[in-house]
Amino acid sequence: METKRNIVGRFAPSPSGRMHLGNLWSCLLAWLAARSAGGRMVLRLEDLDPDRCRPEYCDQILRDLEWLGLDWDGIPVYQSRRTEFYAEAFRELEGQGLIYPCFCTRAERLAASAPHRSDGSAVYDGGCGRLTAEERAELAKTRRPSWRVRVPEDTITYSDLLQGDYYGNLKRDCGDFILRRSDGVYAYQLAVVVDDGAMGVTQVVRGSDLLSSVPRQLWLQERLGLPHPEYGHLPLLLASDGRRLAKRDRDQELGQLQIQYTAPEIVGRLACAAKLIDRSEPITPRELLPLFSWEMLPKEDFSM
Ligand code: GLU
Repeated sequence: METKRNIVGRFAPSPSGRMHLGNLWSCLLAWLAARSAGGRMVLRLEDLDPDRCRPEYCDQILRDLEWLGLDWDGIPVYQSRRTEFYAEAFRELEGQGLIYPCFCTRAERLAASAPHRSDGSAVYDGGCGRLTAEERAELAKTRRPSWRVRVPEDTITYSDLLQGDYYGNLKRDCGDFILRRSDGVYAYQLAVVVDDGAMGVTQVVRGSDLLSSVPRQLWLQERLGLPHPEYGHLPLLLASDGRRLAKRDRDQELGQLQIQYTAPEIVGRLACAAKLIDRSEPITPRELLPLFSWEMLPKEDFSM
């Protein structure tokens, strides 16, 4: 097996429910990309949001990955136990004068947003960043703010392992984004950058729904003095009606799939969709290792 350099890949599932076929697709390919190059694989449970995540879902994810034949190195990392590290990074950015409180409610935020991003989310116009100290003090009497980072006009370019050249303008395409919610929970963009850095991740393979996050993550890595991993964004597995798969698509959830299929059958279906084998037949992740190649992978979203 070729070891080009010491690749460290990662699984980063959100334990907000049982994994569905789309999650398995990302996990299988992230694992194959790292392991086929002789790399390490680490596991992080992205359980920051107490409203959506449950410990029992975390346990289930560990069991499901094992059941599929996907292993990882070291012990799983839980974001809910790492608040002090996010706080430290937050203070670092605050020290650089980049953070400001945002008092907008959800409705106000939407009203104060520029045209929406391609993923449907809104680009904040930076309004609260222009408040005077007196205005802030006044608003703080009645509202608990969220905290945003002020982004520059820079256009960030990078080359994706699968999608090719990609660029995004921080101000226009992303806007000042939230690093900490008003209830104190640190945001995904901050946590992911801090953790990929701390866990020594060099290769991020995930769904292309996160492609538009890359400019923000690369920029935060710069600000925090962290190295840039390489990124490969996979086409999305869609529901049969062309929608993105969601946790509510129960028939594609692993609990349901397990009634009909064995683990090698599920892996075989995914491997066939990845064009690593010609027809869907039972196979284990380990047997796929010599067959993995970035060149073979499809680039367009698909359903199965
Ligand atoms: N936790 C995210 C998800 O399950 C993935 C985040 C990432 O890969 O950066 O969608």
